[in-house]
Amino acid sequence: MSDQKARFNPARGSFPGFAVRMLSICLLMSGFTACIRHSPSNPSNFNVICISIDSLRVDFVGFNGMPDPVSPFLDSLSRDSINFTDVMTQAPSTFFSHRAIFLSRYIFAQHRNIPVPTETLAGQLQRGGWRTGAFVDGGWLSNHLGHQIGFDIYDDSGGGFTKNIVKSLQFIQEDRDRKFFVFLHGYDIHAPYNPPEEFLTHLTKSRTPRIPVGASCEQEKAARLKHENRALFKAEIRQCDAVLSQLFFSLQQLDLMDETVVAVFSDHGESLGERGYVGHSQLYQKQLKIPLLVYIPGHRTQLRPEPVEVIDLMPSILELVNLQPPDSVQGIDLHLADSSAGTFPENRARLTETTDEAFSADGEWSLILRDKPENDELYFLSVDPEETVNLRDSSVDRLNMMRRAYEEKTGEDLAVSRTAKKEIYQSDMVARKRLMPARGSQKESASQEKFESELRALGYLN
Ligand SMILES: [Zn+2]
Repeated sequence: MSDQKARFNPARGSFPGFAVRMLSICLLMSGFTACIRHSPSNPSNFNVICISIDSLRVDFVGFNGMPDPVSPFLDSLSRDSINFTDVMTQAPSTFFSHRAIFLSRYIFAQHRNIPVPTETLAGQLQRGGWRTGAFVDGGWLSNHLGHQIGFDIYDDSGGGFTKNIVKSLQFIQEDRDRKFFVFLHGYDIHAPYNPPEEFLTHLTKSRTPRIPVGASCEQEKAARLKHENRALFKAEIRQCDAVLSQLFFSLQQLDLMDETVVAVFSDHGESLGERGYVGHSQLYQKQLKIPLLVYIPGHRTQLRPEPVEVIDLMPSILELVNLQPPDSVQGIDLHLADSSAGTFPENRARLTETTDEAFSADGEWSLILRDKPENDELYFLSVDPEETVNLRDSSVDRLNMMRRAYEEKTGEDLAVSRTAKKEIYQSDMVARKRLMPARGSQKESASQEKFESELRALGYLN
């Protein structure tokens, strides 16, 4: 298990001492950009970097209130960034969430088929003159799954952020005369949690048994395992934070921080023993809420508490660099350069989807829609943030109001959509299997083997 994941992160724990020492000097100052000059160029010429930290939970970073020192570098970056504090993913799973991010489209809602990637963020930037490169960790982001649309280079050979950052810096330096878009992704903190001792020792006393990802645990073990998994998860984040600092140090050395926009986010959150579950793919808040920082040259720190969906990222970045988003986008422009430039929808209903469930929220309440009405779940988050008391039968007026809000947002009859999602997903699985390399030639077998071993390393296959 740990050997497989280690293959993604061969240099875990080994980062250049010089870089870290230099960075530490910077961190002693007020914020990350205290080290750099400020003469931002025209936004139309901004480079763009998106960093997807797979599985990073919103409340496990210092800039969102985690009291333990797990993310000193990102905390420093946040002091020169826009920090969106209420962001919801559109899917609690890697494949669907990234599909939504790349397209700015809901997965199922408002269309009867899972959208085929055509008008992608990378494609729009590519057409606008940006060189586009993705450096990702394979698995659910493997190139044969269709994510590569719009990228000049889509490298899914992986290696964790350590290797992906090196590859991205090589890409950036290949042509310094042209602006670039880089998409970085890493499974560095994805389960199974296996941090090196040096990052673990100051957060927990010892390595301890862990429950398998996706498995329910017995009630009496839940509290203990929750504590242990949280400690391991924090140590993973601490290491990832140190690795990411290398990228920014290099960008600074290359004199690029004055002309590069950087968005840091995750594709979904993670349950760490809450409700007796470890991992993601469910529709509970710990798995749905994600961090989002956007660093813009010359733009000072800003807290943005508005209800955001991760599909807002694509139109917001395109508008920032003065490109027109395609008509197909379903997210909204967050007006990154000037939040006062537009109005934000009040009481915005948000939606997260999985294979056969839908989720609609309006601020304080969450409704999880199942295959049958009697299986729905309703939670009042203000008093029950861990979603332990299902109010479906006791708050009927609220339940009906939320169900109507769902139909209003999606334009779909709820009775129909309960069953339609499963059919859509099953047909998509058939389509995706066709995309997967068949066992045949040596090359195809190697590709298939790579995909399967990556999924196995992440706990998806036995
Ligand atoms: Zn993921």
